[in-house]
Amino acid sequence: MKTIKGKSVSSGIIIGKALLFNSHKEIVFKENIDADAIRKEIDRFENAVKRARAQLKKIYNNLQKTMGKDSALIIETQYLLLKEGNLVDDIKHIIATDLVNTEWAIKEVEKKYVEVFGNIMDLAFKERINDISDVLSRLLKNLKIHKKDEAPEVENVILVADDIPPSMAASLMSQGKLLGLVLDYGGETGHTTILARTLEIPTILHTIDASRVIANDDLLIVDGLSGEVIVNPTPSAIAKTTIKKEKYQVYKDRLKEVIKLPDMTKDKHPFKLLGNIELAFESDALLSHGARGIGLFRTEFLFMDPNIAFSLDQQYMIYKSVAQKMYPYPVVIRTFDVGRDKVYDSFQIEEDEVNPALGVMAVRLFLRQKEMFKTQIKGILRANESGNIKLLFPMITEIEEIHTIKALVEEAKDELRRENKLPDKQVDIGIMIEIPGIVSLIPHLEHVVDFFSIGTNDLIQYSLAVDRNKDSVAYLYNPFHPGVVKVLMEIREEISKIGKEVTVCGEMAGKPFTALMLLGMGYTNFSMTPLSITEIKRVFTQVHYSYVKKTVKELARLSSKTEIEEFLIETMLKKYPDLFIKQPLFQ
Ligand code: PEP
Ligand code: MG
Repeated sequence: MKTIKGKSVSSGIIIGKALLFNSHKEIVFKENIDADAIRKEIDRFENAVKRARAQLKKIYNNLQKTMGKDSALIIETQYLLLKEGNLVDDIKHIIATDLVNTEWAIKEVEKKYVEVFGNIMDLAFKERINDISDVLSRLLKNLKIHKKDEAPEVENVILVADDIPPSMAASLMSQGKLLGLVLDYGGETGHTTILARTLEIPTILHTIDASRVIANDDLLIVDGLSGEVIVNPTPSAIAKTTIKKEKYQVYKDRLKEVIKLPDMTKDKHPFKLLGNIELAFESDALLSHGARGIGLFRTEFLFMDPNIAFSLDQQYMIYKSVAQKMYPYPVVIRTFDVGRDKVYDSFQIEEDEVNPALGVMAVRLFLRQKEMFKTQIKGILRANESGNIKLLFPMITEIEEIHTIKALVEEAKDELRRENKLPDKQVDIGIMIEIPGIVSLIPHLEHVVDFFSIGTNDLIQYSLAVDRNKDSVAYLYNPFHPGVVKVLMEIREEISKIGKEVTVCGEMAGKPFTALMLLGMGYTNFSMTPLSITEIKRVFTQVHYSYVKKTVKELARLSSKTEIEEFLIETMLKKYPDLFIKQPLFQ
């Protein structure tokens, strides 16, 4: 038994078998073969070896020409691994004796070498593992079992990976058979994490080396409450976990009682909690979690299936079904927010961006692909038969952009009208506040937009110039930074001056401390992952708005994120000592 510590970003406890995935490599499944298929399987393998050797030779020659013989040596080492020594024979041996597919045999051999070399402290030997892994992953690619970024079918497994792209995460999770997720890296506000949280899949990040330590088929306990992953647990650890799991279920059931309470603080200040969804089926869980509508439908996830994303009719059907399911509550549909960390295989971004977070993305991208943009807008407008759809545009930079987009909306309306497909219902148009520069434009937007939505994930990223997905700068990414706190206060104030509605839909809205801070600033609409709704409602229904407001007002004079966070929590605890005791059964 071994325990790996990480950071839990989606709670819950799960026990299950591990499936390893390396974002740079391929996912491998075991397939048994018949004895009379051995020759064919070995031929397949030898062809892959031949191809890999030819590729390495080419790389070697290029490197030698451009960087000299010394640099080329690295590749020569890999080439030799495939030419002489035991590696190739070991793989053939496993295919023939274990009667398994080549891919599985390759993984078995890799495991063996990692074990052997992993115990040797000499750095040169450790480097050798990297060479072997690199060569083996080249072989896997040459076997071409799965196209890159194409998610395999998963069957009740816990996925262990260094990191996975959101498109693959979405595809895996939507199959409904992913029990848990353990990632060496991954951002807390990245889309993989957001999705895991929405779908209530226990997820641990920042495990550093879990994907190296854990092997395929290892039994794992993923404890999303403690942030621990237990590898091959003892029977007594399993028994303890089972009890903890049952208690957690009791806690969750109790939390559901909160759903029945009115949406008001103790002193009758109203608030509205809405849900963020990425995939249409997530809307099923929202009403049962107490959501009063959808505050953010991240439609870019439709690119998981290009047949949907590129088709007006299919989009229309999806938007319409979500809107009808949520009726009479509002459904805010955000147009495709593709680009920067959100890349999809089915949608190629032409520009090779040096700095994608500042480049062509979201509405900037789709204003260059106007037909496609218009198709989506038409799909949304046409779907508004129930009259509860609102249209939201992400990553707005300037007023001219809004004017251009609104003209496109009018064009879309005209076309639908001509086709007799425009419902006679109003669609409010809103913009996301994610780029700090747009904040000073709010006073000018009174007659330009109908509502606002604050994307705090990006607003923090752009306010502090910190990549929201990067571990190395994660310590700087903080919602309590005085700059972030002030800008959020300013936004609230400016929007109330022009009398428009605003919803906060970034991760800040769904976490107790930050949500309280936003409540104290005067925000009343919060959109978050379904699971957070009951927790936030529990916290909000226990406090007095007047007290929270007074506390938050004090934050403006503090100069550091630590002071702000501590002051907020301590002041709240003074009056409500049990406020943040989230899981009383586990203390
Ligand atoms: C945000 O930036 O806070 C937001 C809600 O949008 P996304 O996380 O999809 O970028
Ligand atoms: Mg955003």
